[in-house]
Amino acid sequence: MEQVKPPVSAAQPPPPTSSSKHAGPPPPQLIIDKKANASYATGKLLGEGGFARCFEVSTEKGERLAAKVIRKASLTSQKQKQKLFAEIRIHQQMSHPAIVQFQHVFEDDDNVYMIMELCENGTMVDMLRTRKRLSEPEVRYYMHHLLHGVNYMHQHRVIHRDLKLGNMFLAKDMRLKIGDFGLAAILKHDGERKKTICGTPNYIAPEVLFDTSTGHSYEVDMWSLGVVLYTLLIGKPPFQTKDVKQIYKKIRDNTYEFPNNVPISDAAREVVEALLTRDPNSRPTVQEVLGYTFFVAEPVPYLIPTSALHTIPTLAE
Ligand code: ADP
Repeated sequence: MEQVKPPVSAAQPPPPTSSSKHAGPPPPQLIIDKKANASYATGKLLGEGGFARCFEVSTEKGERLAAKVIRKASLTSQKQKQKLFAEIRIHQQMSHPAIVQFQHVFEDDDNVYMIMELCENGTMVDMLRTRKRLSEPEVRYYMHHLLHGVNYMHQHRVIHRDLKLGNMFLAKDMRLKIGDFGLAAILKHDGERKKTICGTPNYIAPEVLFDTSTGHSYEVDMWSLGVVLYTLLIGKPPFQTKDVKQIYKKIRDNTYEFPNNVPISDAAREVVEALLTRDPNSRPTVQEVLGYTFFVAEPVPYLIPTSALHTIPTLAE
């Protein structure tokens, strides 16, 4: 699902945007960082996003990393440049085991390169496409990572604003890493409210769309985590429909159901319902969520094997 590009009016949902802005030459086989006197050998294409292509690269010492490559020619407006600078500035400040580690940024004549930790097991979208849905112990494991990563961001006054399965990556050891700070915002103080309408339709919190004069804050990430949790348990997003306007109507009216044919525990349902609370002030914080039965009554799996990318794993606790 494509991102909503701000600014848009809530009354008129934005059209999905095209994702192939970067048709153009690939980066050189050897990417040179002149200032740091370093080079990276370009490997396979890992994926493409709204503005960037991501390649596996290796350093002279043989370390494998990911390089997000943004063509300078695609940064046509000052606003686009500012957005990229903001993404870099915020991501650079983050350092947590559940966040894709930013390493370095540099440019050559054609591109800007963001060098990051490589997440070799793809995104949560890829895994869910194969698995359809996950078992509750697995969901507990990934949600635990997510909650700790989001807690770290919020403590650093960062709102991610685009938490979705496509921005959740899996490292070699199957630990979850949150990435893509393209829509993130840093608050000057905790009480500041943001007013820009942005996010991805299925995951967007109701106050972003409908309480535009009051603005929004950290709670939008908690809502998105509710959408993520539901999707991992049920196999499809709670407000999913073909038409974006209908998605927004369902979000406004808080219309979603737990299908009878997918058994989920009361404890899991309780967390979904709390996170998908319409009123942002009544939504739980990360610390509160971690105290729910779903997270405390059963142990969080210590490790998930890579076989879980394809089949339901047997888990050690
Ligand atoms: P955009 O901000 O343009 O959407 P993303 O940061 O989402 O770009 O990256 C685009 C794609 O590249 C992702 O969907 C994913 O497939 C791949 N990718 C991004 N970062 C990494 C990473 N650190 N490790 C592995 N693959 C990545």
